[in-house]
Amino acid sequence: MKHKFIFITGGVMSGLGKGVITASIAKLLQLSNQNVSCIKIDPYLNYDAGTMNPITHGEVFVTKDGGECDMDIGNYERFLNKDMSRSHNITTAQIYSHVIESERQGKYLGACVQIIPHITDEIKNRIKKISNDEKLDVTVVECGGTVGDIESLPFLESLRQIKAEFGNTWVLFIHVTLIPSLDVVNEQKTKPTQHSVQELRKIGIQPDMIIGRCEKPLLEKTKKKIALFTNVNVDDVISCHDVKSIFSIPKILSKQGVTKSIFQKFNKINIYNNTKWNKWNSIVRSLQESNKTIKIAMIGKYVSLSDSYVSVVHALKHSGASLQKAISIDLIDSENVNLNKLSSFDGILIPGGFGIRGSKGIIETAKYAYKKNIPYLGICFGFQLAIVAFGLHCCKLEDANSTEICTATKNPVVDLLPEQNDVSKVGGSLRLGSNTITIKKNTSTYEIYKMNEIIKRHRHRYEFNKNYLDIYEKNGLVFSGESDNGRRIEVIEDPTNKFFVGVQFHPEFDSRPGFPENIISAFIRAAIL
Ligand code: GLN
Repeated sequence: MKHKFIFITGGVMSGLGKGVITASIAKLLQLSNQNVSCIKIDPYLNYDAGTMNPITHGEVFVTKDGGECDMDIGNYERFLNKDMSRSHNITTAQIYSHVIESERQGKYLGACVQIIPHITDEIKNRIKKISNDEKLDVTVVECGGTVGDIESLPFLESLRQIKAEFGNTWVLFIHVTLIPSLDVVNEQKTKPTQHSVQELRKIGIQPDMIIGRCEKPLLEKTKKKIALFTNVNVDDVISCHDVKSIFSIPKILSKQGVTKSIFQKFNKINIYNNTKWNKWNSIVRSLQESNKTIKIAMIGKYVSLSDSYVSVVHALKHSGASLQKAISIDLIDSENVNLNKLSSFDGILIPGGFGIRGSKGIIETAKYAYKKNIPYLGICFGFQLAIVAFGLHCCKLEDANSTEICTATKNPVVDLLPEQNDVSKVGGSLRLGSNTITIKKNTSTYEIYKMNEIIKRHRHRYEFNKNYLDIYEKNGLVFSGESDNGRRIEVIEDPTNKFFVGVQFHPEFDSRPGFPENIISAFIRAAIL
């Protein structure tokens, strides 16, 4: 069966926000009643994003089925309010290892295995399979990187072939480029765009639409010039200028006729859905309007790039919006925490993290938040180090620590998951994806979720050591959530504090604009008080 496709390529440089533009285009189609989803192609040789440093590549987004994915998958899920599977993030490593494995199994017996057609066929099959399996009206595929990169060539070639196979009314190419403005002359420069479109044409791809990333709205004369040099209709040269909230981008694109043009090119009737648009507009408005700012300190070691914690940042804002509050987030380096300054914040959040560096600062922060009764939410690493802080401070457990930080600690209150003992491979080997958590009645966590069971995503190798359960309970800590038939602790809370909660799972991956995550909202409510 044939389905429609939109392929998004990038020009001039990376980091233009192609992921957000991809998600916004998919959103426009969704708001016109289309069953739509997105795929991200990452042409790098890592099998997945799990082993990459968040400081250079942004957060690792975890899907329900345990994929460690590029952060763009998070953008897609948030814009479309839809869960994606790991198959939506395709990398060079996945394609090559599959083809090489197939060759070893004799699947291509007799043939000389080549990039074209074997690698390109595998890429095309994966893309088509998703659109078939999910019965998508339109599949929006974002090709990571920049046109001209050697590593993206087989992917662009595959996309070109799909268009050749399906035809113009089935496949559209949208090219996202940078339109810089020179300060001195204040003129929008089109040359880099001209060159990157030439680069695309060289490999047989003519874009149907160009979206220019620019500081200020694209001027009519800039649009005309781009149209002239690129063979794109002037109405299909679209401005995507800087905005305060990324969620206003669908509207900016729609106002310039993007939805209309896509439907026309697809020979389809646009089923504009007023109710859906009104709902979306009010969500976007709520994210921008607020009557008071709540100050949150977020302490971690990847603070030099705010994208390292992008889902947590969004989740806090979704919760803030639902409570009519703006959220300001200070990212603080865990290696340089000034505890006294933390008292000026309404709440302290410790997100996920790994390794020794900065862990001392986090333990001190957790202890400080506890003592000063400042609302504290610890996520994963933040949960584990809150347990360490509680052990040291309240249970007086000498030298209490996580064995991730100190293997020889006298009191390993956080220890390796037993099934991890024999794991030697780093990639893809953590406890990953969704698991069911049972919530204990008569606890704050139960009040917050109002459910006996919740399903949440995970990404960890260490956990609370249950040998210490009694001593912690005697000292007042409540274990309010567990999983795997009680084998693992998932939630801790301290009833004597305003809000001192830790969760082993990652609530941030389930938060969506207009649909905030319960425990994050409870944290913000406590911070407002
Ligand atoms: N490093 C910790 C672990 O592996 C926490 C991981 C995380 O915060 N995602 O268990």
